[in-house]
Amino acid sequence: MYTSFKEHLTQELADIKEAGLFKDERIIVSPQGAEIKVSTGKQVLNFCANNYLGLSNSPELIKAAKEALDTHGYGMSSVRFICGTSDLHKELEKKIAEFFGTEDTILYAACFDANGGVFEPLLNEHDAIISDSLNHASIIDGVRLCKAVRYRYANADMTDLEKQLKLAQAQRFRLIVTDGVFSMDGNVTPLDSILKLAEKYDAMVMVDESHSAGVVGQTGRGVTELFNCRGKVEILTGTLGKAFGGAIGGFTTGKKEVIELLRQRSRPYLFSNSVPPLVAAAGIRMVDMMSETNTLQDKLHANTTYFVRKMIEAGFDIKPTQSAICAVMLYDAKLSQDFAASLLEEGIYVTGFYYPVVPKGQARIRVQLSAGHEQIHLDRCIEAFKKVGHQLGVLKEDTKGGCGCNCGN
Ligand SMILES: *Cc1c(COP(=O)(O)O)cnc(C)c1O
Repeated sequence: MYTSFKEHLTQELADIKEAGLFKDERIIVSPQGAEIKVSTGKQVLNFCANNYLGLSNSPELIKAAKEALDTHGYGMSSVRFICGTSDLHKELEKKIAEFFGTEDTILYAACFDANGGVFEPLLNEHDAIISDSLNHASIIDGVRLCKAVRYRYANADMTDLEKQLKLAQAQRFRLIVTDGVFSMDGNVTPLDSILKLAEKYDAMVMVDESHSAGVVGQTGRGVTELFNCRGKVEILTGTLGKAFGGAIGGFTTGKKEVIELLRQRSRPYLFSNSVPPLVAAAGIRMVDMMSETNTLQDKLHANTTYFVRKMIEAGFDIKPTQSAICAVMLYDAKLSQDFAASLLEEGIYVTGFYYPVVPKGQARIRVQLSAGHEQIHLDRCIEAFKKVGHQLGVLKEDTKGGCGCNCGN
């Protein structure tokens, strides 16, 4: 059997390569951070991590994790409901609920699991899920596992959402689900309008705060802070793998009864191991740090504002952003790859995205800002962008003569 299956796989892999979609992994041999070392020995500035608050290598989180190794050991060797619940898990769940102004929290091994396990226990074939077309893969998979009737609305399009909500009046309960920040454009979901429509058409709302928690809102409490509606959204999900330390772990937080039922019925919670105590301990420290000061959030917001302003001044076409994601639009797929390769030569690590990850003709480089970046990192990145932008002729100023950078042209 395997001989023919092997041929089949070899062909599939060749097709992926042919389409230019083969994913190679770059190997990092240093801790994650603003400056990283890759296996070729090259030192580069990292602008493509979800390390929004620069906590991936935080001495304070490392200290909390090390202490928990001594007090609570390495692993739990169990799912939560058998013998996998430590006092640290309970404390972190409480802290996350306080952070978001919600009633209770349930931890998962990842946000992929939180989203995979949230719909099926709560809704059935009598109900409706109305989902943004650009929602994360884990939401799409989670919805697939649930028998509810599915409706899809165009990204952040409130006219379309209203249309879908009208159709969904046929069902018993309605749940609108959306990412807080969409990862390719950096736009924030229009939660104020969504809540108004939810009220008008008698629906509940779920927001995935993975790219917005720690980032959006003055104190990083996410989109419910930004739209001044803390506690008004029934269900929030999020990850500990991005701004919140960057290690591993996910959560669902929201209404008490929702969380209680998930603890009884959510399959990734019931049948998969709990996060190690050291991760929970670092998570507790992380929430405490964010409650003690707003330094990291302030720095991230200042870095993002500075970077976007300088890039627009330099003549780049930047998508409007309300997050720490800055999409530098290049439109052409090959150009996006050449641009990213040239930036790497300049010591700047970013990723170029093109169809099918983004729509056809919408290729771009996604830059992710971090509180771990210092002014000097931002300036080096901007200078490299200008140099390569000039070489590849994508700066708006080029057509006017003079590219606005220090290259003498
Ligand atoms: C990254 C991400 C996830 C997955 O989070 P993990 O904890 O890494 O599984 C889920 N949803 C969204 C919107 C994300 O951006």
